[in-house]
Parts: sequence; C-alpha cells; structure tokens
Amino acid sequence: MTVEQIQVDTLVVGAGQAGVAMSEHLSKLGVPHLVLERSRIAEAWRTGRWDSLVANGPAWHDRFPGLEFDTPADAFPAKDQVADYFEAYARQFNAPIRTGVEVRKVQRNVGRPGFTVETSDGVIQAQRVVAATGPFQRPVIPPIAPKDARVEQIHSAAYRNPQQLPAGAVLVVGAGSSGVQIADELQRAGRQVYLSVGAHDRPPRAYRGRDFCWWLGVLGEWDAEIAKPGREHVTIAVSGARGGQTIDFRALAHQGITLVGLTQAFDGERVTFRADLVDNLARGDENYLALLDAADAYIARNGLDLPPEPEARQRVPDPQCVKQPILELDLLEAGITSIIWATGYAVDFSWLQVDTFSEQGKPLHQRGVSREPGVYFLGLPWLSRRGSSFIWGVWHDAKHVADHIATQRKYLAYSQARQSSTQTSAQPETPIHNLDSVGAH
Ligand SMILES: Cc1cc2nc3c(=O)[nH]c(=O)nc-3n(C[C@H](O)[C@H](O)[C@H](O)COP(=O)(O)OP(=O)(O)OC[C@H]3O[C@@H](n4cnc5c(N)ncnc54)[C@H](O)[C@@H]3O)c2cc1C
Repeated sequence: MTVEQIQVDTLVVGAGQAGVAMSEHLSKLGVPHLVLERSRIAEAWRTGRWDSLVANGPAWHDRFPGLEFDTPADAFPAKDQVADYFEAYARQFNAPIRTGVEVRKVQRNVGRPGFTVETSDGVIQAQRVVAATGPFQRPVIPPIAPKDARVEQIHSAAYRNPQQLPAGAVLVVGAGSSGVQIADELQRAGRQVYLSVGAHDRPPRAYRGRDFCWWLGVLGEWDAEIAKPGREHVTIAVSGARGGQTIDFRALAHQGITLVGLTQAFDGERVTFRADLVDNLARGDENYLALLDAADAYIARNGLDLPPEPEARQRVPDPQCVKQPILELDLLEAGITSIIWATGYAVDFSWLQVDTFSEQGKPLHQRGVSREPGVYFLGLPWLSRRGSSFIWGVWHDAKHVADHIATQRKYLAYSQARQSSTQTSAQPETPIHNLDSVGAH
C-alpha cells in the first residue's frame, strides 16, 4: 500500500515503545493518527542490541499499564520478549502502525497549516508530527578513538556476542549499563578484559527485599525533573543479567576484569588513562550508599517491615588495579585486539526541518511540546523527568503529549465552527483537521 497523497491529522514517526505509547493515548482520545516505522515495531529491542541482553528493570516495572509480561513479575525479560511485548501491545488496541516506511523530511507548509512529510513511500500531509525516533539514535565514538592502531573497534551498539571479536584481550571504554555488562560477558567467556571506568551511578540491584526500580519510584527519583548539578551526563551502571546483581566494580576486578580510569588519549598503540579511577569508584560508592541511606530512612519513616541488610554496606577490598591504577598501556603488549566503545548515543533530527532546535541541534521543547507549533518529541532523556527515556516513563510522557494535541484540536474545532457559522456562503474551510488516519500493520 502506498502512502502517497495521504493526509493525516497526527503523524507519529517511529514505532518503538514511545510510538506505541503515543498511539495508545491518541487512540484513547480519538485523535486520528498514523505511525510510520522504517523497520519493525520495537526494532531496537529486536536487533539493535547484544544477544544476551535482558531488561534492566523487572517485568513488573518495565512495562506499560495495559499489559503484563508473560514472565514472573520479578524476572528480567530477554530483549526479544520485550520486542514481542510491544508488538502484542500494539496489536491489543489495533494501533495504526505502518512498518517499513521511513520518514525522510518534514517541513512546515507555507501559507497553510500543517507539514509536508516526505517518506520512502510517498508524500504525506500531516497537521502534527510527533518525533518518537528514540533517545539513542546515533552511536557516538569519541574523537580520541585511534585512527592508526591495529585493533578492531566497534561501538556497543554493534556488539552482539564474544565470538564476533577477534581472539585476544578487549578494552571496553565506558562503564554504564552497556559497558559493564559487555565487559562482564567477555570476561566470563574467557577474555582478558580492561574496563575504562568514568563517572557513574550504581544503585544496588535490590536492597532490603525491594528492587532498585521500586526504591527509585517510592523515593521520587524517577520523577526528578532535572539531574543533580554536575551529574547530568553520569551513566547508571545496572544490570538484570543472570537474575540481576548489583554492579560492584571491585568485585568485577576480583573476578578478573582489569579496571582503568577514563580513557584519555591514544598515540599509535599506546593508550593513556586518567588517574581518576579511585575517585570515580568513590563517587559511585557515595551514590550507592546514599540510596541505602534514603531507603533506610523511608523504611523507618513509614514503619515498614523489610528485612535489615547490613551486609549491603560491606565493602569489597580494593583489588590490585585499584591500589595501583594503570595509567598507560601498549595495546600490542597487552594483547588487546579489540576496543568496544560503550560511550553512548546522540540524536539525529536532520529529517525534521523545523524551527525548534538550538544552535547545537538540541531539541527545544517543554515536556515534549516543541517550540514549533504542531511538532512534538517523545522518548528523549529527561524529556519531563528522569524516567522519560525508559519504558514506564515514556508512557506517562505520551499521555501528556496526547492531551496537548487533543486540547489544540479542540481550539481548532471551535475556530472552525465559529468561522463557518459566520460565513454567509457556508463554504467549509479545508477539512484537513477531520481527516481519518489510515491504519495498517
Ligand atoms: C542497551 C540498552 C538497554 C536498555 N534497557 C532498558 C531497560 O531495561 N528498561 C528500560 O526502560 N529502558 C531501557 N533502555 C532505554 C530505552 O527503553 C530504549 O532505548 C528504547 O528502545 C527506547 O524506545 P523509543 O521508542 O524511545 O526508541 P527506539 O526503540 O529507538 O524506537 C525508535 C523507532 O523509530 C524508528 N525510526 C527512527 N527514525 C525513523 C524515521 N526517520 N522514519 C521512521 N522510523 C524511524 C526506529 O526504527 C525505531 O524503531 C535501554 C537502552 C539500551 C541502549
């Protein structure tokens, strides 16, 4: 089916969890819409991540309200189960999603309302556009990456399993959830692993019988509207792998991973690391202990009967690589044949050619409502709160954006009604706001 000449009220771009949530809320409010997805529903979960990935949050938490996972509530669903979940969710309310269609350009119409949308399957006229194209669109490898070293280099987005890497040791740069899980998997597969650890938060996986997702919820941390000053880009090291365990870098080092500080520079085969490993670990510990303290205070304040867990405060002794941090390595001498850059992602809105970006290309919006009337964002980190780019958080943001769209449509309907009642000739305005979406899977 071609999309040529289709007119829609609201066009949602992307059918990951954000697009599915958006479609659900628009459907509930009766807003005609179409979701275009260049690939398949929840493709990032299906093929965009490593083979063994499981959700970082338990099944009872990392889901939308309208459907439970087909797993025990405290289990961590595998990535394909997460993708299946969103497909099932979309089917449940017959979401008007068309897959295999890429949106290539969106431009505001001149002298008439709405946007002209160029897709891989024709042109669409849309009154509104919701960009639900993901928080993690373009893998970022920092410019320090060596151009001349004889090692294989991939971003964590391209990592699938240990067998894909050439034999030899691996340097994993970045110790957020991706880097730390990949390093652990490689070490368990028998690889010598160097893990470059920068600033990080590392909540306990669980404390006093409750998962950290629960703690962040009751302590109001998922709802935090801004990151603590200086911690805006601090990564969170958590994992649901092997049933879910607290990330403890010292324990990983005792297991066999060599920790190093932030990767600083490459010069041919030589790589240098900042002398900040001890500091980075100390700050991670502070963050960990702060959550235990807040949890204890919450339990005391509310008189909860949750089992004490004093062992959570015991510290693993410093391993040799922390006592005497390595500041420089020769890749060849260390036997390093590959580098995995677990260094995060950027967004790419080059297709969205409207006036709502800063000079640095940052989307300008308030809780997803952009500066360009009729354009919305969803799923971005910190869109409204800390939880915004995560499964449960995007559902709540989508509700807000859908409400905004419904309200704007009411204003337009009023205006249209007033105008037609005052027109003697009874000629209707261009009936563009009443167009139904064209839904298909
Ligand atoms: C390794 C990893 C693990 C994570 N684990 C968890 C977790 O356990 N729990 C949790 O809550 N969150 C987790 N997240 C964070 C977040 O939930 C995911 O990144 C999730 O995929 C974001 O969903 P989204 O719909 O916003 O974006 P995406 O899933 O990226 O979906 C965007 C969709 O838009 C489509 N698209 C993009 N551009 C266009 C275009 N121009 N035209 C048409 N379609 C387009 C893409 O094909 C894609 O399907 C994880 C993230 C990563 C990277």
